Amino acid sequence: MTRVHLSSPDITPHEEQRVLDAIRSGWVAPLGPDVNAFERAMAARVGAGHAVALSSGTAALHLVLVSWGVGPGDHVPTSTLTFAATANAISYTGATPVFIDSDPATGNIDPALLDDAIARLRADGKDVPAIVPVDLLGRCADYAAIAAVAARHGVKVLSDSAESLGARSGDVLAGSFGDAAILSFNGNKIMTTSGGGMVMTDDAALADHVHFLSTQAREPAAHYEHKQIGYNYRLSNLLAGLGRAQLERLDRMIARRRQHRAMYAELFAPVDGVEIFQRAGDEQDNCWLTAILVDADTTGWSSGDLLTHLATHDIESRPLWKPMHLQPVFAGHPQVTSGAAEHLFHTGLSLPSGSALTTEELGRVTGAISGFLGMS
Ligand SMILES: *Cc1c(COP(=O)(O)O)cnc(C)c1O
Repeated sequence: MTRVHLSSPDITPHEEQRVLDAIRSGWVAPLGPDVNAFERAMAARVGAGHAVALSSGTAALHLVLVSWGVGPGDHVPTSTLTFAATANAISYTGATPVFIDSDPATGNIDPALLDDAIARLRADGKDVPAIVPVDLLGRCADYAAIAAVAARHGVKVLSDSAESLGARSGDVLAGSFGDAAILSFNGNKIMTTSGGGMVMTDDAALADHVHFLSTQAREPAAHYEHKQIGYNYRLSNLLAGLGRAQLERLDRMIARRRQHRAMYAELFAPVDGVEIFQRAGDEQDNCWLTAILVDADTTGWSSGDLLTHLATHDIESRPLWKPMHLQPVFAGHPQVTSGAAEHLFHTGLSLPSGSALTTEELGRVTGAISGFLGMS
């Protein structure tokens, strides 16, 4: 029996063909026409003016912040309930991430706490050049409220849409919100290039500068002139070929994940004390991961008990992100917390949600969950 994973890559002969085409085109390394085509297609898809394909979502976060001149002494508020990459990228610049707690219903950054945090940091004489809201598990953050906060304080917005490609908030598509946004094509995201990321922005100068920094900050001179520190962060042409194929299948992959969401909703509907996380309004989400919230006082079992049971059936499940303000590496960092993210961490469990899950694997998952519910 093979292990059932949370979110495995969904690769078909279409992807194989595109990678083969890229190899046979002769553009193996490093750049080439697939990179340009992938950027154009993604920019059109999310409605952004410019796109720069990079080696990871983390690199994308890093280079936007570097381009904006964010550095030591600066404070950058971000969501505490996120993957470490968001906070790591802020730290790479020498700036201090400031961890803001969640709206309990969505897990996304609480705009009122964000507003409060910026006001307090400024009152303390701190520089707050930018904020990095995150779209958790494929649900857009409250873009309208965040835009109002950003405008009031005059801060730039870098939207971490690593998990939300294909989602929307009203008329605004994930990847087009803010002064810049980033996407991730890591192996477990909604679409993958095995590893990769992208900066999306309407700011042509920013896109140019990110591109420049990502290729070792080479000045246009035959002898390789350098006036500043550069990075080796560009996406390879082969991987862009994979990305193009994945993007063409994105809507089908999202539809599949949405079906899994509906399946879990039906499975847990009769269970008092269990709710599907982010269920309300999820027609706007990409349903990247489906998680449940378990009220152990009502159910008599915890999310950890179900995790352990599924593990014995070789099925992966995972708590929601451990909030950054509780991570040892960020101990002592400034935070504005309400307890909401910590509560979600203790009660939430993400379930297998990948678009490549087979009928047989889904049967194993529902069978194992039904067995668990029958026992408890
Ligand atoms: C995956 C992820 C990233 C980082 O993307 P990589 O491509 O893995 O570097 C950043 N932020 C969030 C919220 C993520 O989930």
